[in-house]
Amino acid sequence: MTTTTAVQPVSPAERCDRCGARAAIRATLPGGSDLVFCAHHGRQHADQLRAVAVEIRDDEGVLGAI
Ligand SMILES: [Zn+2]
Repeated sequence: MTTTTAVQPVSPAERCDRCGARAAIRATLPGGSDLVFCAHHGRQHADQLRAVAVEIRDDEGVLGAI
């Protein structure tokens, strides 16, 4: 795997795709699209995200606690 593009940090202005709370993680998908989730939904979808995402930006370490 090569990393040709740096994943953008999650902006404070971004909102969870599921509930609209402040986003805490960004998951970049194959093809370059990305998803942002709050800590709650990030944890809820952690297994799925790890399976499909090419990179997960987790500056707050919300997934690391699992
Ligand atoms: Zn959420």
